[in-house]
Order: sequence, then C-alpha cells, then structure tokens
Amino acid sequence: MISYEYSLDFARKMDAEDPLKDFQSQFLFPKIDGRSAIYFCGNSLGLQPKAVEEYVQKELHAWADKAVDGHFDGEQPWFSVHTRAKKALSHIVGAKEHEVVVMNSLTSNLHALMVSFYRPEGKRFKILTEAGAFPSDMYMLESQVKFHGYSPDEAIIEVSPRVGEHTLRTEDILNTISEHADELALVMMAGLQYYTGQVFDMKQITEAGHGVGALVGFDLAHAVGNYPLVLHEWKVDFAAWCSYKYLNSGPGNVAGIYVHEKYADNRELNRFAGWWGHDEKERFMMEKGFKPMYGADGWQTSNGNVLGMAAHQASLDVFEKAGMGRLRTKSVLLTGYLEFLIRKISGETGVLEIITPEDPEARGCQLSLLIHKGGKAVFDEFYRNGIVGDWRNPNVIRLAPAPLYNSFEDVFLFAQILERSLAKFA
Ligand SMILES: *Cc1c(COP(=O)(O)O)cnc(C)c1O
Repeated sequence: MISYEYSLDFARKMDAEDPLKDFQSQFLFPKIDGRSAIYFCGNSLGLQPKAVEEYVQKELHAWADKAVDGHFDGEQPWFSVHTRAKKALSHIVGAKEHEVVVMNSLTSNLHALMVSFYRPEGKRFKILTEAGAFPSDMYMLESQVKFHGYSPDEAIIEVSPRVGEHTLRTEDILNTISEHADELALVMMAGLQYYTGQVFDMKQITEAGHGVGALVGFDLAHAVGNYPLVLHEWKVDFAAWCSYKYLNSGPGNVAGIYVHEKYADNRELNRFAGWWGHDEKERFMMEKGFKPMYGADGWQTSNGNVLGMAAHQASLDVFEKAGMGRLRTKSVLLTGYLEFLIRKISGETGVLEIITPEDPEARGCQLSLLIHKGGKAVFDEFYRNGIVGDWRNPNVIRLAPAPLYNSFEDVFLFAQILERSLAKFA
C-alpha cells in the first residue's frame, strides 16, 4: 500500500516517477478564463490528441487527390478502413481481432446487436438490466421489447441497490438472474455504470446468465479504455461502446462492437444487413442473397466513416504506445490519490460522500460524489476555479482523472480548490 500525502512535493514526486508522464503533452487542453483547465471529464468527452489533425488531414488530402480512387488506391485504401482499428481495439477490450469492428455509433449498434441477440421465445422473453441505466440504453431496451410486442414493465427486470446503498451487490445481480432463470432471454447492462462509477463483475454475470440459458451483452461506454477487459475469455456474447469518452476520438465519432467468436460463422442469426457486412469478395457483384462476413465484420451495414476513423486511429495509436497495463496501474494510483484527498478534506463536513466503490477492482478512474449540501453550487464553484468535471442530476458530481493526460499534481491542485470550496458550503 502506498501512503499518500497531501503535499505538492508528494504529487510532484509521483509525477516524476510516472512512466506515462510524457503523454500529457500529446493532448490539447481547454481553457477557462485564459488558463488551462484541470480536465476530469474524460468520462463524457475525452481530450483531443494533437495527432488527430494530421491523421484527418491525410484523409482530406487523399480525398482531394484521388477522389473515388481512394477506395482502392494509395497507402491505406478506404475499402478496408474498418480493419485499421482492430489490432488496438482487440487489446483494449481483450478480444480477437475478428471479434471487433468499428462502425456507426453506440446506440444504433446496440439496436443492431439486439436484432441478433435478443430473441424472445415463449416464456423466455425478459431482459435483466441495472436500475438507473444510461437513458439511451433504457430507451433502447424499452423500444426493443415493444418491437417484439411486450410491455417494458413486464419484460424489463431492473436490479436496484439495497435500501441505504448506492451500488449493486454482485450477489443481488446473480440471485435475480437465478430467480428469473426460465424467463430470461438476455442480460444487457453496463460494464461500468456511468452514474456511480461501479464496475460490475462481468465474468460472473456472464457465467450466471449462460447458466440459466440467457445471452449476455454489455454496454462498455464507460469501461473501454478505462478498465481492463477480457471479453473473449469471459465469453461475453456481445458488447458495444463509443469512442469519444476515454477513447478520446472526438464528439459523436464512430463506435465499436464485439461479437464472440462462436457467432463468427453463424449465418442463421437474424441481422439487419447492409452491403458492408456482405462477403467482401462478392460485394461488388451487386447480387441478391446476403452472405455475412466472418466475425464482427458481418454486422457492418454501411461503408466506413473515413474521416471519423482517422481521428479514432490517432487516439488508438496513443493507447497502443501507452499500453492498457501501464494505464491501469497509473489509474489505480491516481484515483486512489483523489479518493484519499477527498476523504481527508471533506471528512466531517457532511457536504459530500463518495458513492463509487472503494475497491479498485470495482471501479475505473471515475469517482462520483453525492452532494449533500450546496447542490449544483458546489460544482459551479469547482468550475470557476478551473476544474472541469460534470454534474449529473439529481445530485452527483463525477470526476474522472484520466491516466493518459492527468497528473498527480492536477489531483493535488483540485484538492486545494476543494478545501477552499468546502469552507463555503460546510
Ligand atoms: C455515453 C453513453 C451513451 C451514448 O450513446 P450514443 O449513441 O453514443 O449517443 C449510451 N450509453 C451509455 C451507457 C453511455 O455511457
């Protein structure tokens, strides 16, 4: 166990020993009142890697110089643009390269995957999810069950925290799965919960889901690039994520999916198909009869968004250099430091409470603070002092120190601001 100290010297010593310290200079930071912000909001929108401009420019030039020939000519023909990210993403999510592909955006990908993996039949039509899921996921599930003719109230089972608790107990998730054993078609929940920052035990949940004959999928929007994942080994059936949070690929940019290898060659599964998922050797024959590509590629519908993928690639190349192992090691220390300082400073004031689990295995880099006194004014006070976190109704501030571009000194400076702010609200 490291013993943290509330001092600038200590924070600077940690930074000096940080093998990832040089990565901070590869990102562009927003300014508040002319000063570079302390950015703890990578859970919502990751910062822009400086290399993005060059990667995107390259594709703009290819488009200008070659126009339609860019699909097949040049160093990196657009025809296979969807393959560029496979290597980096397969490391990040712990999957084989053919199990991942980049396409569309997150919510539309979830719908596409539900077509294949939510197959209600007879008594087995229910979906288990976490209570208080991200709104897009709730709407996605509601509309999917309605599409199959069920009412959301009867078809969606939500697991809630116990009274007086903020996060879910794994045993409660597993017990709910067993209680509904013969009614459950699917377990579909977050891997890392956006509001509380809790990581669910994806391995055990997948085993339990499979144990009762259900399929299991995860929304990894907050987990990808943040928490170590081994989707293939955990035997997760499918997953989807966006690229603009911890993956730093730009607002609304292209998203990713994972489909377990066991479905790679399954042509019987329902899909909403398009030409880019069709066998690429025959794609331009323009004939009837959809034949899906092997693996996740077979879920593609449209040709790839080249400019978006260029920005995505710039960021993934930074991840490849940093490595998820080193990122996670730093992340545990950095968030541990933030937690130590918040507890030390807020102590008995009663202004706030950390609701994210204490166990590093059960969280990523984000800490969620439940604000008991002062409400949003606490958040506004942070912002006026150059801290970018985010406020989530009804009463949570999320702070996510990202190991790629945040330092121990950032966390120390935040603690000083916290100390001054709490004096106003306690
Ligand atoms: C950020 C986020 C989304 C956003 O969905 P988009 O389709 O990218 O707009 C959806 N679900 C979860 C869990 C998220 O965290």
